[in-house]
Amino acid sequence: RSWQESNLPRRILDIVANVGYDEPSPIQRAAIPIAQQSRDLIGVAVTGSGKTAAFLLPLLVYISELPPLTEINKNDGPYALILAPTRELVQQIESEARKFATPLGFTVVSIVGGHSLEEQAYALRNGAEIIVATPGRLVDCLERRLLVFSQCCYIIMDEADRMIDQGFEEPLTKILDAMPVTNEKPDTDDAENPQLMSRYLGGKDRYRQTMMYTATMPPIVEKIAKKYLRRPAIVTI
Ligand code: AMP
Repeated sequence: RSWQESNLPRRILDIVANVGYDEPSPIQRAAIPIAQQSRDLIGVAVTGSGKTAAFLLPLLVYISELPPLTEINKNDGPYALILAPTRELVQQIESEARKFATPLGFTVVSIVGGHSLEEQAYALRNGAEIIVATPGRLVDCLERRLLVFSQCCYIIMDEADRMIDQGFEEPLTKILDAMPVTNEKPDTDDAENPQLMSRYLGGKDRYRQTMMYTATMPPIVEKIAKKYLRRPAIVTI
């Protein structure tokens, strides 16, 4: 099957063609349509499968439908957050993300240890739709109030099993617990309840989507998936 059948918008398909991805990989074929149906997802896939584009393309479709980041809302934080276990992986994801995000006019900022916190704080103040980070350094930034997640509505945990191996369970759950945008689908009559609707991002279609990619499913990873994903589809490649 081809990209044409993926239901991605024309604009995004043109970028995919420019990047030179002639055919979708199996994980892309399986995961993109599910993500496009606003469902949470657990992808059991390894590096080299094309999983990065599998989660990036639907993420870009989602944030393309939100109001643009401007002076008014850029201090409310990113629209999307991608978490990964190591600096190297964050940098790989960042460079893959920029291929697609830059032509759409979106900014990608990476937050990892070993780089100046001041430079990262400066980049955050300038506003970014997408943040790619390791959980440890990101919690530092949260605790120093260098960023908030008021409008974060798309979360990817990449290589979740390795994040746990690296000892990131606590920062990971801290970050996920700091997300104000709900991942619950609203009922039709919830629209009458302003307190409840404030947890959605400008309209009840804007609840949070959460995706997890992992190579293995140890109990801690399963526990995190149960707690933070809503009825996820499971895709195994
Ligand atoms: P990943 O598994 O996401 O780390 O991707 C592995 C490599 O495959 C990366 O270098 C991507 O740029 C490349 N890639 C991902 N999707 C495709 C595709 N559909 N066609 C060709 N190359 C791809």
